[in-house]
Amino acid sequence: MNELDLSDNNLIAQLNQVTFSDLIDTCSIQADLNKLVLAQSRQQSQLELASYINVNCSYTELLTLFQTHDGSQYIANLKELYGSAFVRGNIIHTDLQRQLSIRQSTFRSILKTYQWIYMENYRYTTDGIIITINTINGDPTQMLNGITAAYIIKILPTEENLRRNLNFNIMFKGKVINGSRIDKKQLKLMANSLNNVPLAITNRQIIVQHKACLTKCSVNNNYCVSCIKPIFCYQLPYFKSRCGLCAYNICKSCSHPRTLYNKDKYETIIVCSRCLVRLKYCNYSNVDESTVTHRSIMLDDEGHDAGQSVYTYLIDHMEDNPCVKALVKKILKLGNEDSTSTREQIDTIDRNTLKEYLTSHPPLEDCNVSTASGLRSYPIGLPPTLRELDRMITPKPHNEEDRLNAVKKLNIANLIRNKELMQICEIVNAELQNLSTLIVMIINTQMCVVASNDPSFIQFYDKDESICQHMLMDGKPLLVTNPEADMKFYNFPSIRTLDIKFYFSVPVFSPDNYIIASFCTIDTSVKRITVSQYSMMRKLSELVAMIINDPNPVVLSQN
Ligand SMILES: [Zn+2]
Ligand SMILES: [Zn+2]
Repeated sequence: MNELDLSDNNLIAQLNQVTFSDLIDTCSIQADLNKLVLAQSRQQSQLELASYINVNCSYTELLTLFQTHDGSQYIANLKELYGSAFVRGNIIHTDLQRQLSIRQSTFRSILKTYQWIYMENYRYTTDGIIITINTINGDPTQMLNGITAAYIIKILPTEENLRRNLNFNIMFKGKVINGSRIDKKQLKLMANSLNNVPLAITNRQIIVQHKACLTKCSVNNNYCVSCIKPIFCYQLPYFKSRCGLCAYNICKSCSHPRTLYNKDKYETIIVCSRCLVRLKYCNYSNVDESTVTHRSIMLDDEGHDAGQSVYTYLIDHMEDNPCVKALVKKILKLGNEDSTSTREQIDTIDRNTLKEYLTSHPPLEDCNVSTASGLRSYPIGLPPTLRELDRMITPKPHNEEDRLNAVKKLNIANLIRNKELMQICEIVNAELQNLSTLIVMIINTQMCVVASNDPSFIQFYDKDESICQHMLMDGKPLLVTNPEADMKFYNFPSIRTLDIKFYFSVPVFSPDNYIIASFCTIDTSVKRITVSQYSMMRKLSELVAMIINDPNPVVLSQN
């Protein structure tokens, strides 16, 4: 075997030891160069290639890139790795039990396109995974036929596991036997594609973020948020020099344009140097292709009796729990706004009206959440110095002063552990079975959990650690999945210590339409919110508003 164009003698020696005869033989290369090395040998009609790269990321990210079973993710991966050489592809068959998958992809070579059908086999080892690729032969004039290859992914030992990221060594080994010129070209393309792995991983981390809508985010910084140099308006067209993640103005040298392949189309985004660093702080180890899409409300499963569980809960507990009975009466009042029903009629409790109110739902398109569009309407608060990149700054809604005045009118001390509010949290959890449901008042610098089905949550917290504060920004329900992978939230102590993976909140309004509280539910696993659950949270949020805004609350007896 002859190595070509390699300057690092030590590496040549080690690559020399790589045997191609058995592709799943683990590789002995440990060189700590974070760059691609190519070794090749040419024997008659045969080509053998090896390349490797070291990357720092989570195991999930690597598996999403190399071993996805999702068709559109597979296409996105090949676009990232091979660029314009890749035309299209699909997963033909996957057998998870036997750890294999048959895939088909089409590549472009000058004027012709070539199909490639191959089988991937996955073998998990104690320190990684080995993916072998074997060509399934077809028509020799249109097909890539002679390629056999393997990716050997190994976790490298590291002194510290920085934010759950690991150092990986990815080794590519491949050979072409009796193959055509096109086969050899394809093999070189594959060996070189390892170069694109770090970029592909970063691009995916950008896709996971909630990007800024630049026309809605108003910023007026006249220094670059990345390097703190002054920015002159003639330097670049205004819209081009803004970061698509934090939304601030940036200088030319701190702006990094990225082309992402997301949801079957390309999109271009400019990211500032500062955000590129912050992206690496987040934890992506729980984000796979299925969780990224859980940002909007889902339809209920067919046959699910939507809203029935809350109704049943109320009916079952009404007779022996006066607090539930009081709530039922209030719900009937909500559902019967224009009704002239007398107090006696409400006292008899019309079960049909109650059921009708609780089981009626808006159409899916009316279930608004601020995150559904994937775009955020406010800039990410930036810490004053670059040294504090890890610190979170709470954004403030435009009407914060008036909103705080509306909150000040309420007697918060009286609302803490209010029986009815506690009962409402209990009802929500009967349906959602989450870790906890909370009613949170957002006061000047603090937020106060006034009620929860888990009383240990009832206390004051720092407002800078609150996802609820972000709900105020749009005034719409907010759905957050995997906050640990979100640049805005990853560092909140509550996210880290409680391992929160799911957050959904609905605003609670004052009579003059200010948000006085957040009615939210959290969990340690990623959940979905369906139309009926969304509708239930909205209706109960009106009930919460009715109780919080009541100037003369009826104090229930302790029994
Ligand atoms: Zn700059
Ligand atoms: Zn930025």
